[in-house]
Formats: sequence, structure tokens, C-alpha cells
Amino acid sequence: MDQIKIFLDEKDMPRQWYNLAADLPTPMLPPLTPDGQIVTPEMLAPVFPRNLIDQEMSTKRWIDIPEEVQQVLYQWRPAPLRRAVNLEKFLKTPAKIYYKDESISPAGSHKTNTSVAQAWYNKQAGVKSLTTETGAGQWGTALAFACHVFGLECKVFMVRVSFEQKPLRKIMMGLWNAKCISSPSMETQAGRAVLAEMPDTPGSLGIAISEAVEAAVTDKTGKTRYALGSVLNHVLLHQTIIGLEAQKQLKKVGIKNPDIVIGCAGGGSNFAGIAFPFTREKIHGAKIEIIPVESAACPKMTKGRFAYDHGDIAAMTPLLPMHTLGSHFVPPAIHAGGLRYHGMAPLVSQAIVEGLMKPQVVDQLHSYEAAIIWARTEGFVIAPETSNAVACVINEAKKAKKEGKEKVILFNLSGHGLLDLAGYDKYLSGKLESSKVPHDEIKRSLARVQVAHKAPARKTGKW
Ligand SMILES: *Cc1c(COP(=O)(O)O)cnc(C)c1O
Repeated sequence: MDQIKIFLDEKDMPRQWYNLAADLPTPMLPPLTPDGQIVTPEMLAPVFPRNLIDQEMSTKRWIDIPEEVQQVLYQWRPAPLRRAVNLEKFLKTPAKIYYKDESISPAGSHKTNTSVAQAWYNKQAGVKSLTTETGAGQWGTALAFACHVFGLECKVFMVRVSFEQKPLRKIMMGLWNAKCISSPSMETQAGRAVLAEMPDTPGSLGIAISEAVEAAVTDKTGKTRYALGSVLNHVLLHQTIIGLEAQKQLKKVGIKNPDIVIGCAGGGSNFAGIAFPFTREKIHGAKIEIIPVESAACPKMTKGRFAYDHGDIAAMTPLLPMHTLGSHFVPPAIHAGGLRYHGMAPLVSQAIVEGLMKPQVVDQLHSYEAAIIWARTEGFVIAPETSNAVACVINEAKKAKKEGKEKVILFNLSGHGLLDLAGYDKYLSGKLESSKVPHDEIKRSLARVQVAHKAPARKTGKW
């Protein structure tokens, strides 16, 4: 009988994170200030603690996971690698579908992998309080949990549409003593400015980030910093434990490398987490298709441009070299709130430019169709974000069937959907809508992207 759950002993949990910046064949472009200066660690000091800034800028290949962080991760890690045999049978595909189950963390997603690390580094640096933004509420709950573990205060600006659609996440944040505020809010200059211009806005991650950064840097005690749940290099670094575990687990069933690696991508962190260790193999010659999957509501990788752009609407963050739809872009209010971010992580963006990864896009209706197939075959109720990855998995498994190839597909099950049942209800009652953005709207938003500083698309041409 085929093994369908592959566990790893606690003693085999990875002790180091993997940094793709060490192996990218073309070096990363640096973040810039609006007037074109390269961002220095000093400039970031009001926003992040120095230890995380160093990590953000590091090109060291392997970075030790602090022991106290390991201790907390042990509460649910190593996460199981599972095989979706029922889905394989349903699709009558010769493909083998494996997935990492990140839904088993306290907050229900991969985000605790980095929230625990970030809270620990902040605590070491003497920080007392963290601010952040959250889309669907996943990152807010993950940071609330981690702050609780290390005794930090936590304030979360939650994108308005999710604040209203997903009240249960707010309760969870409160359970771990965090304060959750609907964004845009009247608490910050950035929030007040947006409300004056667009009083009925559903909000966006770009707006909420502006508010959270402002709240951190204007705190008079000087002991408040800001934490970001995705996009940045150090966040992606912390997630690589997913792919590193998967490598060990696949080896246990005799698989060196999968043929295809898939993850849904909002800011790119859970995707990077599973994909980067395999990207390293690909750089060294392995044949692996690596696919980040975005939502048609926010298609920055397939319809955006690679450019220097701000991470937030009020231009409080540096300019990052990334695939972007423009920091003023406000995507439709889809249920997969975590995929409503206008940009893609610079590390993922550079890997796409290099040709190491090929993005795909999924419409909301298809993602829910996939989530329902998943629930009816594999049993688990997945997060609306994750369902975008599953839609791609199903497509690839069907392709393998057509080609008659026994491909190994690996994907990341980034979170469960037990607090997101409203979207399922809508789909089942025929009320869920397609999520495509009109071409003109994308064109208009892209026209507002700063081009004062060119981001050259550098590549070796090897992939
Ligand atoms: C936040 C979230 C995402 C999207 O964020 P990434 O940084 O791209 O991983 C995907 N899935 C779930 C369950 C999430 O909570």
C-alpha cells in the first residue's frame, strides 16, 4: 500500500533556514529611496529591529534557527507531508500529488513560521510592541499568537472588507490579547487621507501597511516596531523550513525531486517557503517546473510589470524591485484576502525574471470549484487562498493524464478554511462571482507606477 502520510521526527526538523539570495544566478537589485539612494540599514531602523534588518540584507546561504524559536515551532512542526490519493483517483491521473500541510499550526496557516521568528528577534532587540496589517486575518492571528508567546503587545490593522466578512479572525486575535482595527481607520494620517478620498473603499493591504508603519514609527516610546507577514526577504527565509522538511520527507518515499512544485502567491511567502529549496536544485541542474499561482483579481505576475514600486499606498516603504500592479491598485473584494496584494516578493520576482519560475493565474470561480473537489475527495476544508494552488494542481494532474506521465506534483496547503465558510456558502448557492479585473483598470494603475528608477530585468538566459 502507498504511504499517504509521511512524518518527520522532531530531531530531524531543519536547524537552519535557506536563503535563495545566496544562489540566484543574477544578483538582486537593492531597495531604493524615492530619490534613488540605496536603502541603508540605518534608514530601516525606526521600522524594524537591527537583527531582522541584517537578515533582510544577508546573502549568507544558511541561517541558524534560534533555539527558542525551534522550541515554539515544535508545537506543530515538522508538518506532515501527505499524499492526495483520493484526488488522484477522482482525476484518474497517473500523477502523484503530495502536499505539505501547513494548516495544523495554532493560527491555521504557514504564517506562524515567520511570526514566531519575528516576535523572537524583536524581543531580543528590546522591542515591547508590534504593529502590523492583515488581509484575511491570517497574518494578524499568527502575529497575535507569537506576540502572546513572547510577551509583546500587538496591534493589527485589518483590511476593511475582511474585517466585515471575517469577524471570527478578529475574535481569535483578541484571544491572544491583540488589538484589531478596521483599515482605513481614523487613527493614522494615512488612514484619514484615504477615507477622505474614498469613504466607501473596501480597503487594501497597501493602505493597511501604511497605517501600521505609521503607527510604529510615530510611537513616542521608541519601543514599537512593525512586522510584515510576507514579501520581504527575511519573511520568505523563515518559510523555507516548509520546503526543507518536504525534501527530507520526499526522500523517505524515494523521491529526490518532484517534477512540479506549486504554491498560491499573495506576497509570495508560502510559495517561496515550499519552492526555494527546490529552486536551488533547479539552479544546480534539476528539471523542476516551479509555479506561483495568483488570483485573477490581482494578477501582478502575469499582467503587472517588473519595476521599482512602493509596498504601500502612502509610499512609506522603500521602492522594491518587483512585479507590481501599482501601489494604488485596489483589487476586487475576493474571498482570498491574502492574495489581494499589489506586488510580489522581490526574491520571487527576480527568480521569475530569470525564468526559474512560471506564474499561472486562477479565477475565483475555478478556485472554489477546486476547493470543493478537494473537500469532497480529501475531506479537508482549505483556505480560499490555498484553493488557487489546488486549481493549478488539478490542471497539472489532468495534463499529466493526457500526456500519460507519472509526474510527481508537490504543493503547499497553506491553510485551512474553517473560519472562511462564507465564501463556500456563496459558491454553493450560486452567488459567487468571477474575479477578473478589467484590462483598462490594470492599465490605469500601471500608468501610475513610478519609473524614475529603472529596474533592469537581468537574466542569464539559462532557463
Ligand atoms: C496569507 C496567506 C496566503 C498568501 O500569502 P503568501 O505570503 O503569498 O503566502 C496564502 N494562503 C494562506 C492560507 C494565507 O493565510
